[in-house]
Amino acid sequence: MKLIDFNQDEQFNYLRQLMGAEKLGSFELFDPQLHISWQDRQLLSKQWLGINGNKLHSVNDSLFYKNSPVIAKVDHILHFALCDELKKNITNGLLTHADITTNTRLINSESNCPFCLHAVSYEGFDVYRHRHQQYNDKIIKDFQLSRYILSKSSVFKA
Ligand SMILES: [Zn+2]
Repeated sequence: MKLIDFNQDEQFNYLRQLMGAEKLGSFELFDPQLHISWQDRQLLSKQWLGINGNKLHSVNDSLFYKNSPVIAKVDHILHFALCDELKKNITNGLLTHADITTNTRLINSESNCPFCLHAVSYEGFDVYRHRHQQYNDKIIKDFQLSRYILSKSSVFKA
């Protein structure tokens, strides 16, 4: 008996391509501790979602909640990296609440965290070197969080 080799099947390969499945049998089981649910992902793309901020972490210079990059709002300051301010509060277990989103249209009026600019070394920004104050002020004034964040990940929506 000759078995059908589905790896060579044009239609199956087409479907695999549509699904974005790169490897055969490559899938991850949903783990609510590690993965954002479909519902939360929908909410994040539309509004702020309140979470335990101590769960925020860093992946490649980006701020993550579970498996998604996010922007976090803490006391009216926007964070987009795991900066020294967030790290300090998380280490001490003090960041019990943070609002997060992936919708860049929600982030216009708040001010950006300078420690986050430092954390990602944005254009050489160094928050601790005060003799660069003029340079730092210019960076802060010109920095557009929505433009920066949209260039980092397709998860963010304009
Ligand atoms: Zn920050």
